[in-house]
Amino acid sequence: MLRVIQCFSESEDGLLVELLDCGHQGPMHHEPLGDRQASDAPGHADRTGEQVDCRKCDRMELPEGAEAYKTTAWWTHETVPKGVLGNHRTRPGTWGRVEVAEGRIRYVAGLPAPADAVLEAGDIGIVVPEHTHHVELMGPSRFRVVFLKVGGGGSSDPVHFE
Ligand SMILES: [Zn+2]
Repeated sequence: MLRVIQCFSESEDGLLVELLDCGHQGPMHHEPLGDRQASDAPGHADRTGEQVDCRKCDRMELPEGAEAYKTTAWWTHETVPKGVLGNHRTRPGTWGRVEVAEGRIRYVAGLPAPADAVLEAGDIGIVVPEHTHHVELMGPSRFRVVFLKVGGGGSSDPVHFE
């Protein structure tokens, strides 16, 4: 998925890395920083705001450092918000973790990271930021969504309904 370069930073092993708005480190730069600051690396700082393709998002990998900041109620077929059953997506940088406690639900997402999975009690589904998806109920069930963001502090209104 296309993501926006937010800034540059230094990885744990001293390499120059891009930080993307999804919370992942970017795919492209692996040069040692040496004595330089990430902000001084020539030809890189001015790329802030550019888009790059994030394969980690395509693989639905929750980024390291993602912190839960909001959790829905446990929903049943009687209480699930209608919007969740139609196409919707989370806001930039906001990840979701669908947790099923009882029964089964179907989690369906489209391009660019297609998913069509039946989640059973104890299963977890990962929702990628800004990735359109919906849930279908498969009989009685109980599930909730935990919203996460790298560094925490995500939007109190984390979902956009289409
Ligand atoms: Zn990503």
